[in-house]
Amino acid sequence: MKKIPLKVAIPMLLLFFYLLKHLSKTTINNKMPIKTTQQNITTYIDSKFTSKEVKLNEQKNEHNSPAEPALDLSASWNLILVNYNHPIDNNYINNIVLKPINKSKQLVDERILNYVNQMLEDSKKDGIDLLVCSGFRSIKRQTWLFNTQVEREMANGKSREAAEEGTASWIARPYTSEHHTGLALDIVTPSYQTLNEGFFETDAYTWLKANCTKYGFIIRYQAGKEEITKVNPEPWHVRFVGAECADAIKKTNQCLEEYLDPTTNEKP
Ligand SMILES: [Zn+2]
Repeated sequence: MKKIPLKVAIPMLLLFFYLLKHLSKTTINNKMPIKTTQQNITTYIDSKFTSKEVKLNEQKNEHNSPAEPALDLSASWNLILVNYNHPIDNNYINNIVLKPINKSKQLVDERILNYVNQMLEDSKKDGIDLLVCSGFRSIKRQTWLFNTQVEREMANGKSREAAEEGTASWIARPYTSEHHTGLALDIVTPSYQTLNEGFFETDAYTWLKANCTKYGFIIRYQAGKEEITKVNPEPWHVRFVGAECADAIKKTNQCLEEYLDPTTNEKP
């Protein structure tokens, strides 16, 4: 076989890699607009998620069944509500495209990857080392985390019911964790990697609190909102909602539930 001369082969290779890079590139903004108004959000969320039962197994979690049409993830994707009474469904999880965060094993929804990487890069410039210790979590992983803790509490003499209730106050039941969306992150710092209230005292938290909204994130579980969120304050847990919504949520001191449905507080 005749050899291709180097001066022809090198430009061909360069062209090949250029095309590969640009044809496979995805962008965040042009295909999937970030929803910035509250209009119809509650209806959308309620119709999609309130009637679903929480399932403590991972059936159907592997692939879409052909009978289930793919959800249109572009609709309000940044404002999806997942909490104790709004479980996520398998169809949503199966349709998320996950990508790893720079120099990390953690995965996020590809639509927020640039925002996460930018936040990590900018914090570093300010001398703050943010470490993402948890991004996307599968139903299987959440089930394992939840059940392991329940068993631990039962081994200490609690009934199953009491053990599940105790566990749920700090480990979300499977299908009710925001980590299933790929839009939530647990962030620590190398000098403080424990997920407890001590993280409030770190420079990493101070930086996050002051800056995360610029990248579209909110500190999701704040003190004073436990009645609504049913989650104790978690200074390490941030959730992507888009910069405009994040700013509005912070300025009005609301939690996501209140922002999506201003009547939340009036409900029993
Ligand atoms: Zn978290």
